[in-house]
Amino acid sequence: MIEDRTSIEQRCQDKGLRMTDQRRTIARVLAQATDHPDVEELHRRASAVDDRISLATVYRTVKLLEDEGILERHDFRDGRSRYEQASEEHHDHLIDLHSGEIIEFRDEEIERLQVLIARRLGYKLVDHRLELFAVPIKPEGKN
Ligand SMILES: [Zn+2]
Repeated sequence: MIEDRTSIEQRCQDKGLRMTDQRRTIARVLAQATDHPDVEELHRRASAVDDRISLATVYRTVKLLEDEGILERHDFRDGRSRYEQASEEHHDHLIDLHSGEIIEFRDEEIERLQVLIARRLGYKLVDHRLELFAVPIKPEGKN
């Protein structure tokens, strides 16, 4: 997530979602996340703030926020859904298969090419997702 991370609560309010204390805590944890946490990790962080928050509550809240378009869900092929705040500012992801680290990037040439490819196929591009699965390049001479 590149832009402001504090607007989850605001967006919930704008959409008229009822904000319980637990939802607010989960929203704050999500807003503070600079990575792409899964539900269990979110639960760990939220229950450190309020130990009454159950895993089921985190699941339900995350699902609700996803359905409302406030959160984006990613599947980076490790069998876990990961979440980040949906942003105006589009970015793509590179997944380091060794460390599991997720690197965000944006490349104007790729953005442009995707529009062209869709157009060539007779379409107007409205959205896309790009995930690069990669391993670090070893320095030469090492194995
Ligand atoms: Zn991201």
